[in-house]
Amino acid sequence: MFFVSEAYVLNKEKYGEYDLLVELLTPSGKILSIAKGAQKSRKRFTNVLEEFNLIQAHFRRKLKETIPILEVADLIYIPENLRKEYSKFVLFSYINEVISKLSYPRLEVEYFSWLKKFLNFVNEVFLEDKPKVKFLKVLKAYFDWNFLKFSGWEPQLYFCVKCSKVPQRLYYLSPSSGGILCINCKDNQSFLVIKEVVEVLRNFIKMPINLEGFLKIVSFPELETITNIAEVFWSYFLTYEINSLKILKEALSNGKVF
Ligand SMILES: [Zn+2]
Repeated sequence: MFFVSEAYVLNKEKYGEYDLLVELLTPSGKILSIAKGAQKSRKRFTNVLEEFNLIQAHFRRKLKETIPILEVADLIYIPENLRKEYSKFVLFSYINEVISKLSYPRLEVEYFSWLKKFLNFVNEVFLEDKPKVKFLKVLKAYFDWNFLKFSGWEPQLYFCVKCSKVPQRLYYLSPSSGGILCINCKDNQSFLVIKEVVEVLRNFIKMPINLEGFLKIVSFPELETITNIAEVFWSYFLTYEINSLKILKEALSNGKVF
């Protein structure tokens, strides 16, 4: 059986003496495939199977159970700046590792096209030196928050998770409850945030990928709160160790993102 799909290269590793094991993200989910002879004869796959590339992948599968063979891969898009700019590289290394380790059970086509747009945006965007760290923090939080949505863990931000009342002024965010709590239902693990922060978080999930929107959040006075909340919620659901998260966080805290 043959099938063709657009695919995003998550990672690759040596498989035996000659082959490569390539993990791809496609509109119908992740696919682990074998590129035969890709270690030795590079002709067919010259620079195509590099991580972050978008390709048109031609697969062959003999039996349903076996890993498909990647027969041909044509380049669609190379995000060159991701390889040249350290900040973009660490961000996307983190993103690739997250996608590789976690599954997102729903909205696969939607998710794939969202990621493609995000990849293109990050690759093309020009980051000025000064707000670069802040900008990168926003991009990370945006990814984290949206990945929660695509994983089916979208926090409830409109009414109290326990009693369904809409809080008037005081919002208590609780990762373990999966959203906001009102003043009567708050527990030890929830933390108080102002309404403006909740509004930005709500918008964060609906917001399309665009420079203006990101810049608004970069200049939002509570930027740190936003990025911390994304992180707190995200790490609550994260059951795997993400190695590249440490590198990304180091880069962000040192300001060494160049
Ligand atoms: Zn309540």
